[in-house]
Amino acid sequence: MDKNLIRLSKSCIGKQEKALVLSVLDEEYLGMGKYVEKFEKKLSQFFQRQVVCLVNGTAALQLSLQGCNIKDGDEVLVPSLTYLSSFQSITANKAVPVACDVDENSFIIDLNDAEKKINKKTKAIMPVFFSGGVNSYYKIYDFAKTYKLRVIEDAAHAFGSKVENKLIGSIGDISCFSFDGIKNITSGEGGCIVSNDEELINKIKDLRLLGIIKDTHKRYMGERSWDFQVADQGWRYHMSNIMAAIGIAQFDRLEEFSNSRKKIAKIYDKLFKSHSRIQVLERDYDAIVPHIYVIKIQGLKKRDLLRKKLLEKGIETGIHYLPNHYLEKYSLKEGENLPNTEKIYSQILTLPIHPEIKEKDINFIVDNLNLLLNSSYLKI
Ligand SMILES: *Cc1c(COP(=O)(O)O)cnc(C)c1O
Repeated sequence: MDKNLIRLSKSCIGKQEKALVLSVLDEEYLGMGKYVEKFEKKLSQFFQRQVVCLVNGTAALQLSLQGCNIKDGDEVLVPSLTYLSSFQSITANKAVPVACDVDENSFIIDLNDAEKKINKKTKAIMPVFFSGGVNSYYKIYDFAKTYKLRVIEDAAHAFGSKVENKLIGSIGDISCFSFDGIKNITSGEGGCIVSNDEELINKIKDLRLLGIIKDTHKRYMGERSWDFQVADQGWRYHMSNIMAAIGIAQFDRLEEFSNSRKKIAKIYDKLFKSHSRIQVLERDYDAIVPHIYVIKIQGLKKRDLLRKKLLEKGIETGIHYLPNHYLEKYSLKEGENLPNTEKIYSQILTLPIHPEIKEKDINFIVDNLNLLLNSSYLKI
């Protein structure tokens, strides 16, 4: 990797993570064991709720749906503007993801559009807290209550985010987090489910170990069941001790990571204030921890060229996300569309954000972006 490249996102690994992984390696018990139990305990204290750690965030979404008994032909409301994971976790359960539009300024699911798509088969809503944003959080829960839906929060972007001073994960129905390499904290790959629904949590503990009933406790003790029962289709979705070791060390650095992410987003926001072409997302960075920093560029005609020119300057950018309804597997019926999502997609660009970005990097990024947007020759 080019040392001068300003990366869009990255893991930040220090001495703490390396030391703890080394102790797992020294102990020569790499699978699911006491480190996973310890990581779950830490998370459980943090959220004041039960937690199950898994192999990734996608598995967290998939097993949450399965745990809620969502199956063949059941429908789940989900914004199209999300990572493919949200959609695939639904179809993994043979349920149908119903692609919804998002609010133009917050990028959070548009409940007016969702309401039009409710029918007898609708069983759940999967809101995505895009970039850590929690706009309309309580409205989503009112909506779910009205229509008697389970809420499976795709909170992959929202580890550490708060709504009305309460942590995401501490108040909802089911919250799914991701600890993949670039998320707010990482365990290499990894993810977790947080809920107050004890029955659901216990079921998921079995589902992650091939459906073997009540094997979790034995694993924490470094043992396993030799004589067992299975009632449901399970999966090999548990977290390993190696992953948990990274996760434990990262969790202890949450405040450090959160503070720098918030600071970076605030600096960007300030530099883009009353910009002629750039609009920023509606976010309160005192309350939320931004996982990505997305801007909308009015009249953007040549995004590929813009990204190429920025990369030539050593600035990596991204596009969050290619709407899922643009994919063959999830395409809409003839004549249907999601106007806000489609408009947003043509304008978005994601700028670098990770704990090691410095203020001078941000100035460099914004200066170069402005130069390119103002070039009468390039007409970007
Ligand atoms: C990262 C992410 C996921 C899935 O998490 P993995 O750990 O990568 O499986 C799900 N939804 C969104 C919005 C994400 O960004």
